[in-house]
Amino acid sequence: MIGADGANSIVRKQMGVDNFSLSYNQMGLIATVELSEVTDNQVAWQRFLPNGVIALLPLSENLSSIVWSTNTEIVKHLLSLPEESFIDAVNDAFWKQYPKNQIVSNAMKTVESVLGNFSSVRQLPPGIKSLYGKSRAAFPLGFGHTSTYAAKGCVLIGDAAHRVHPLAGQGLNLGFGDVKLLTELLADAAYKGTPLGNLQHLCTYERERLQHNVPIMLGIHGLQRLYSTDFSPIVLLRSVGLQLVNTIPPLKQLFINKAMH
Ligand SMILES: Cc1cc2nc3c(=O)[nH]c(=O)nc-3n(C[C@H](O)[C@H](O)[C@H](O)COP(=O)(O)OP(=O)(O)OC[C@H]3O[C@@H](n4cnc5c(N)ncnc54)[C@H](O)[C@@H]3O)c2cc1C
Repeated sequence: MIGADGANSIVRKQMGVDNFSLSYNQMGLIATVELSEVTDNQVAWQRFLPNGVIALLPLSENLSSIVWSTNTEIVKHLLSLPEESFIDAVNDAFWKQYPKNQIVSNAMKTVESVLGNFSSVRQLPPGIKSLYGKSRAAFPLGFGHTSTYAAKGCVLIGDAAHRVHPLAGQGLNLGFGDVKLLTELLADAAYKGTPLGNLQHLCTYERERLQHNVPIMLGIHGLQRLYSTDFSPIVLLRSVGLQLVNTIPPLKQLFINKAMH
């Protein structure tokens, strides 16, 4: 088992596994930030911006983690900013009002009048005071998937097998799912006295994880494409879709369940 890119390609080569990959021409800027006020800080925030996505993920009462996925050029600029200007840019990303597409706004008013406006009281993201330590870093973003996960005596798990855009916060979850299933299958094999490298249970791992991972990966890739355009019909489609998910509780629960497993 191995899980990082340089070493991965050697292992994949030895296994005879192909790797499909594409670059989003984006980078994910991460940073730990201090909030302006101490709060419960139990809510994760995400905002889709015209040129990317920014998320604020709680770490403690006064610290949160930022993941800002955007064009490589913008990330390089953000990395080069003095700390104060960087924090201004982050606050701006969460608070700035962008001009709205009038066609979409009018259509959404109609949709809301049909569905009813079920939105609860609008909460606001916390303000950000400062950067915590020297915590700014950035990573290139891409999609990647190997043709198989298993060969005799060897399996791929986590990002070694599948890489997704961080906009849905699912990359690590997919890897945890791989580990959980693999350890269960290996424990079962050990209990039955079967050699651990036996292809039979490694292929079971591969089959079950492919069934789980591929639809999620395609969904995340689809979302990334969906939010990479300002073409009015697509903006309308995604706005109506979000509104439907928000107002139909079973649909909302379905998405929450999928994100948690
Ligand atoms: C900007 C960004 C934001 C993200 N945000 C989220 C999020 O909010 N939620 C989420 O679920 N996922 C997120 N992800 C995805 C998540 O980080 C990855 O899916 C996860 O880290 C993959 O774990 P891994 O162990 O498979 O690989 P890695 O985390 O890449 O770990 C591999 C390890 O192997 C080490 N290594 C490499 N080569 C060798 C070698 N030759 N010998 C020994 N060690 C070696 C590396 O140093 C590294 O520590 C994000 C990813 C990015 C880039």
